[in-house]
Amino acid sequence: MTKTARPEPFFVADDRALDFLNSVANPWGTEIEWIESGQDFLEWLEKAGLVPASVIKQYRKDASQKELDSVAAQALKLREWFRGFVHKHAGRPLKSSALGELSAINRILARDNNYRQIEVGNVSKEDRTTKNAGLEWTNIRRWRSLSPDVLLLPLAEAMGDLICHAEFEHVKICEGPTCTLWFNDVSKNHTRRWCSMAVCGNRAKAAAHRAKNRSM
Ligand SMILES: [Zn+2]
Repeated sequence: MTKTARPEPFFVADDRALDFLNSVANPWGTEIEWIESGQDFLEWLEKAGLVPASVIKQYRKDASQKELDSVAAQALKLREWFRGFVHKHAGRPLKSSALGELSAINRILARDNNYRQIEVGNVSKEDRTTKNAGLEWTNIRRWRSLSPDVLLLPLAEAMGDLICHAEFEHVKICEGPTCTLWFNDVSKNHTRRWCSMAVCGNRAKAAAHRAKNRSM
């Protein structure tokens, strides 16, 4: 599929690590890959809000095509490894023994060059938990002192967030028969079944309606 024909990437998973899995999808019977090159990878990271626009701009300017393509290839390898992990563990609470499978993520995270600063936060006066005028810890990453490999960090972080904070029993794949989209079911009663009503929910409803009409 050519780039112009490609729709906007899906961000329907309620989780950035699962959205990353969904950066290749088969919603209408043809596979769509949103990360076919280094430039594609930058675009996806920017749209996902995982890397600040100013940092993306800098990489577009300073990094070579070859470097960016290489980090995109690594990202796809990480994505497909993570797909296997999610397939294996989704639907049940994650056990601590899964740690043995996570060395790839921890290796990426160990490259980080983060530091903390005290800044005035975005929390409004009413929502503050203390009376300290809204001063907060902020994590800052030294993006530019690192090679483009650093672009894997927000992905490894998103995966770590899912692993450490989400309830894996509510990580689900869409029930659409050919759909491959994952999501974190954060609905109140955990009854979410579809990637989105627009893509699969309506189609399922229409199919059920046709089946009902046929049987009448
Ligand atoms: Zn679906």
